[in-house]
Amino acid sequence: MKVLKFGGTSVGSADRIQGVANLISSDNQPKIVVLSAMSGTTNTLVDISNCLYRNEKQKALDIIQNLEVNYYITVTELFKTEAFIREGKDFIQTVFTYLRSFINKDFYPLQEKAVLAQGEIMSTTLMHYYLEECGIPNTLLSALEYMRIDKDCEPDYFYIQQNLKRELDKPATQSLIITQGFICRNAYGEIDNLKRGGSDYSAALVGAAIKAEEIQIWTDIDGFHNNDPRIVENTKAIRHLSFDEAAELAYFGAKILHPSSVQPAKKENIPVRLKNTLCPQDEGTLITKESPVKNIKAVAAKSGITAIKIKSTNMLLAYGFLRKIFEVFEAWKTPIDMIATSEVAVSLTIDCTEHLENIVKDLEKYGMVEIDQNMAIVCIVGDFAATKSGLDAQVLKALEEVPLRMISYGGSEHNISVLVKEEDKKKAMTDLSNKLLACQD
Ligand code: ASP
Ligand code: MG
Repeated sequence: MKVLKFGGTSVGSADRIQGVANLISSDNQPKIVVLSAMSGTTNTLVDISNCLYRNEKQKALDIIQNLEVNYYITVTELFKTEAFIREGKDFIQTVFTYLRSFINKDFYPLQEKAVLAQGEIMSTTLMHYYLEECGIPNTLLSALEYMRIDKDCEPDYFYIQQNLKRELDKPATQSLIITQGFICRNAYGEIDNLKRGGSDYSAALVGAAIKAEEIQIWTDIDGFHNNDPRIVENTKAIRHLSFDEAAELAYFGAKILHPSSVQPAKKENIPVRLKNTLCPQDEGTLITKESPVKNIKAVAAKSGITAIKIKSTNMLLAYGFLRKIFEVFEAWKTPIDMIATSEVAVSLTIDCTEHLENIVKDLEKYGMVEIDQNMAIVCIVGDFAATKSGLDAQVLKALEEVPLRMISYGGSEHNISVLVKEEDKKKAMTDLSNKLLACQD
């Protein structure tokens, strides 16, 4: 069985929903289809939630109204028969009545989660009805029946596997299953989600739970590119990546795949294929345990990085210093991305600055603290272990005109990361494309 996930733009209009319906029903292979919300919907639901938090009732009602009108238009464009247009409109009306029901209530994060869930509930229900109208048997399976996170907001693998199996084993379940990405329940059974962009993660978790033959992530680009096409010209799709390479690229800014989604696939060794809904015949990118091509694969960048330097005169020959530093970040639940140490100072980077003030206060107990904001990590991913020596030198040579604030190499065999000022990011990425990637293969 395969798991196919379609992103927001792939189901972003009536036309696109019809296209995906054709794609998933063109063979009779059993499959689980995981859908995102139609593009723009989750952002709009976030806007509605923000208005509700601020008690801006009229503004919330206006946004709800606009979104509802768009969905009515989609329904009339999607279905051919009066009966299904009616059924579609009735369903949309239920959802929007539900959204309006929050107007006169206190609004908490719990309700926000329920509001955000409506995007995926609408896209999957519309797909389910459309397939029915076309006479294609399918089952609409609510992710709320099986997708779950635990108290630490980590997926509850056992629960997911057991409950998904129970649903799939039901005699009435068809071999074409439509389900929501992104949404889940938490350890208390409340509606929750896997964070923004989490539909990829849903697909990977479903794939791992059923030990799928393949997990396909369908978007509107022909796979992972060797550099960020939004920033650099003449980027190329990469045909094959290893799980580790894909994880590094996703983590360091390649938007095509949610960074957490590689983990479940890697754990069960399930191939992940990135495909383009606009050109289904394109090969896309295949992600497996090993990549047959062992060279530098790609460049990705992550903006909004803050560098923190802690200078300690006592660090000289001291042990326990790094532990104390790390404990501060642990206490404030703030992940560290990059780290570089010298005898007298440690520099590290974070991208979540929610607790920066508290972190700095705590770190000042151990030395002088300096902060650099508005930095970017540029990450060069490839198989550095298997390639000829000197590759690291080539990376730095390509970056010779860019001031580097930090360099990290050797943490894994798959990446060299450098920290640059945001304003130097484009030049760093372009130089890497022109002077390094262009000389590959
Ligand atoms: N709809 C959710 C979002 O926009 C999840 C996803 O699309 O992956 O974040
Ligand atoms: Mg996405």
